[in-house]
Parts: sequence; C-alpha cells; structure tokens
Amino acid sequence: MGRMAFPVPTSLSPSRVEAFTTCPLAFRFASIEKLPEPPSIHATKGSLVHRALELLFTEDPAARTVEAALSALDRAVTEFQTDPEFTLLGLSPEQESAFVDDAERLVRRYFTMEDPRTVREIGIELRLEVAVGALTLRGIIDRLELDDDGGLVVTDYKTGRPPFASREQQKLGGVHFYAFLCQQLFGRRPSRVQLLYLSTGETIVAHPTERSVAFLPRRTLAVFSAVEKACQSGDFRPRTSNLCNMCAFQRWCPAFGGDPERAATEAPSVYAGLDPATAASVAARVAEATDDLDTVGRAAGVA
Ligand code: SF4
Repeated sequence: MGRMAFPVPTSLSPSRVEAFTTCPLAFRFASIEKLPEPPSIHATKGSLVHRALELLFTEDPAARTVEAALSALDRAVTEFQTDPEFTLLGLSPEQESAFVDDAERLVRRYFTMEDPRTVREIGIELRLEVAVGALTLRGIIDRLELDDDGGLVVTDYKTGRPPFASREQQKLGGVHFYAFLCQQLFGRRPSRVQLLYLSTGETIVAHPTERSVAFLPRRTLAVFSAVEKACQSGDFRPRTSNLCNMCAFQRWCPAFGGDPERAATEAPSVYAGLDPATAASVAARVAEATDDLDTVGRAAGVA
C-alpha cells in the first residue's frame, strides 16, 4: 500500500498513550502530526477552574475562604482574556458570562467537598516526568499533600462528569499513573489518590497497591509498542465510537468518507484564525493542563 512511516513520539502524557487505544487514527492526527484543533469550551473551563484553585493555594491556609477563591477566579478570568485557549473560543458576551458563571459554580462546589484551610500541601500543579522504557511520560499533579500519618496524597480536580460505576476502573487509569510517578520520584507510593469531581461533588478515592503501581509501566509499554508498530507501518486505523461526534478530525476520517492524507495541509486553514504554531500549542496545553479525559473528548473513557 506504500504507506508512509511516522516518527515515533518520545514523550507523551498517559492520556495521550491511552488515546491510541481509543482511536489510532485520531491519535496520529493529534499526537504524531500535531494538527491544529479548535479549543474546547469544556477543556478551557477546566483550565480556568484549575488556575483559580492553584491561585487559592498560594494564600496562607487560614485565608483560603470562598471569597478568596472567587477573587482568585476573577484573576484567572483576567489572565484568560489574552490566552488563545480562551480567545479562540470566540464567545459572545452572553456566552462568556454563562461560561464564567459555570466556573464559579464549580469553584463554589469545591468548598462543599473539603476545607482547603486544613490541607497540608507540599506541591501544587507539579509538572513531573518519568521514563518508561524509551518513552518519557509527562503529567501534572494538581496537588500533592500529606495526610495525618505523613502519607502522600495526590488530589486531582475533575471538571467533567464522574464515570459510571461500570467504567470506574477504566477511568482510574490516571490513578495508576499518579501512584507510579510518586513511587519513581519520591520513593514511595501515595497512600491515597483522590479525584474531586467538581461537577457533582463526588470524590472517588483509590488506595494504590503494589500491584496497581506495577500495572502502569506494563500497560504503557504494551500500548507504546503498538504505537511504535503503527508509526513504522503507517497503519493508524480509525476506530469509531460515540466520541467521533467530538472529533476535530472527522472530515479527514475514512470512516466518514474523508481522506486522512489531506488533513495536514487542510487542518490549519479549516480551523481559521489558528495559525499552526498557536493551534498546536493550544491543543498541547489543553491536553496537558487538563490531562483530564473527561474534557479531552476524543480520548474520553480512559482518564
Ligand atoms: S472520527 Fe472517529 S474514527 Fe475517525 S478519527 Fe475521529 S475518533 Fe477516530
């Protein structure tokens, strides 16, 4: 068939690795060809709320009140006014105020879930990387803290919906990654990983075990060797699912009558207003900042 080979990526987030299993072709477009994608309102809202909570935690513990959080949100909104992740959404003034109201609801709900004045954080928005075979896995820990017994606790804020119980294990894939990161970087696994679903107020808590920590590198290496094979053969198949509705690359997908080889030249002009460099950096930042597959639609189901 004379398919073209692609360079093998050397560094990915765990969610990007898992995205390959959701749809290899969408993975090729996003992570190998790094085509521009329009920012998504959900992902941007997630970034905004994460930023507000990050700012809240720069305050002394006693000052972490709802009022402080709302003024942190104001500050985050001001910062976002010049951020392509936000400006490229092209919201009308009404849409923008609904967007900010939504973010405020998430911030307020956070206070029903825990009291930030009691949190003993040791790191906020920690950007970490760790080698798994030839691949560098990168990720961000929203918050690392100590529990009463001095154990490490990883907290991850989620702005998407919590998983259905039947898919919970799958969604907890991110937990394995956090546990593995802690083990590699700090020499011990966290005693608890908690996912705070700000949309509903639910918290999912996981206690990583030796076995679950061992799971991540095994799983990652297995998926990554499939990625390498696909890069060598150029064979990235489309895998249709309900996520196709949210896929920015549908028009170049053979499953929808498109031609994947035209994507690289057409995507930059289709997503008008996005020059390729800006768009690629927006897409990368959206994926990285949220690293939350609730909001990175194409890859959902494997956070
Ligand atoms: S439209 Fe669906 S099958 Fe096609 S690339 Fe996107 S996610 Fe994959």
